[in-house]
Amino acid sequence: MTPTTIPIEATTAPVISRPDVVVVGGGPAGLSAAVAAARNGASVSLVERYPHLGGMAAGGMVLVLDDIVDENEITVRGIAQEMIDRLEVMGLAVYPPPEDRVLSEVTWEKWRRWGAIDFHQKGEIKPIIYSVAFDPEGWKTVSHDMIDESGVELRLHSPFHSPIMEGNRVTGVICHTKTGPEALLAEVVIDCSGDADVAFTAGAPFVQGSYLVTTVFRLGNVDTDTAMAFDRQEPKAAYELDREAKRILGGAWEHWWLLTPLPGVVWCNAPHMTGYDGLTPGDQTAANAEGRRRVAELLEFARARMPGFEDAILVDVAPQLGVRQTRLIRGDYVVTKDDVVKRHHFSDSVARGRGYYTPYRALLPLDTEGLLVAGRHYSVEPDAQKLSREIPPCMAMGEAAGIAAAMAAESSSGLRDIDVSKLQQTLRSQGADPGDIPSPRAVVDHTAQMATQ
Ligand SMILES: Cc1cc2nc3c(=O)[nH]c(=O)nc-3n(C[C@H](O)[C@H](O)[C@H](O)COP(=O)(O)OP(=O)(O)OC[C@H]3O[C@@H](n4cnc5c(N)ncnc54)[C@H](O)[C@@H]3O)c2cc1C
Repeated sequence: MTPTTIPIEATTAPVISRPDVVVVGGGPAGLSAAVAAARNGASVSLVERYPHLGGMAAGGMVLVLDDIVDENEITVRGIAQEMIDRLEVMGLAVYPPPEDRVLSEVTWEKWRRWGAIDFHQKGEIKPIIYSVAFDPEGWKTVSHDMIDESGVELRLHSPFHSPIMEGNRVTGVICHTKTGPEALLAEVVIDCSGDADVAFTAGAPFVQGSYLVTTVFRLGNVDTDTAMAFDRQEPKAAYELDREAKRILGGAWEHWWLLTPLPGVVWCNAPHMTGYDGLTPGDQTAANAEGRRRVAELLEFARARMPGFEDAILVDVAPQLGVRQTRLIRGDYVVTKDDVVKRHHFSDSVARGRGYYTPYRALLPLDTEGLLVAGRHYSVEPDAQKLSREIPPCMAMGEAAGIAAAMAAESSSGLRDIDVSKLQQTLRSQGADPGDIPSPRAVVDHTAQMATQ
């Protein structure tokens, strides 16, 4: 009889590292977690499956930092802002200056193709807000610099395979490398894999979410001045061409192409593709194939029909499929859509996004000790995650998780026993906004907080 499963031989793994904290995943959340933990006195190892850091911000080529502001109030600072400052010095970050962050036809024309618009607002023209267009290679470089400077032990080419467990406590991780399995032991593990790989294999409860997937791509050799002048001067014709481009792409946000810090290179956050599971190789393969087919057709169309795109070339399709949502952990608190939309404040808030707050409890997977999560797979309802998964808030969560891990390792206390007000103070003293002080627009709902504590 043909077997349907094959037993895998038990083996042993050399212990290659014993830091205080292991971070799994070097995307925006993992970078912030590792740097924050190290800066707060912990020894840290960061394991990443790919040959570079950055996650969706680099390999996924997601190139605009959103959700840093609640209208004009800057809500995400700390390591996210440090990243922006460093990219700006390299000439690889572009954002509207404060005087342009208003609603007007002039600023709309000037900034909409940078993606610096408040797309949550209705109306034909939208307010310009603080958001940042950046370059993916710049992101990688700055990430590596920050990791080096903070003394984190970086292990690339190290896919996480399984947790090391003592009962329900995670005490380390096994990575499967080219040379075989390797073990890292730690006081605290922070899961920043984006897909809850550690929490899932450690047996923590989760829900299976899903959302659009995208093969992000960039076009080069675009005469962007001509393309933008055509938008302005022939709005009806531009609208028709845009509609046809979006039909080819199978869906896209309002502006399917945006400017980047590189002259003549535009970023295309499309196509929108539905019905694919961002975890299974079969679906990922099929999504990549569909995406590449749509990109090729779009390029042909743009070259033939769109002013400014006559000589366009395909620079690259992101090496990583753009996956927005997969597993979402169930933590001590599950953030709801109401929490996000109505700006519910939590007394244990440790991170902010646009207007919303993230409680520390949403980083603590149920039924598991020694493990924190930070990033797009935090404890949140699927519909709420779609509104709260942008890069800056993921970095804010990572920064909070990193400091929490360093505090727990230093005091040998459980992650549920750390002093959250001290965590908030530390975040604030290091330039982050943990959201401990509710903004005037927040809803302070003490009942919701107490019910889950
Ligand atoms: C197409 C698309 C467009 C988006 N548009 C925007 C936008 O315009 N603005 C915005 O701010 N946000 C946007 N987002 C959201 C944002 O990119 C993500 O939510 C954010 O990057 C999440 O950060 P993260 O660190 O949690 O996860 P990720 O960025 O996914 O990083 C996870 C990291 O973990 C690593 N990893 C995963 N599994 C393992 C393993 N088993 N072992 C070792 N390493 C592992 C990965 O390689 C990666 O480096 C978009 C997302 C997508 C997909």
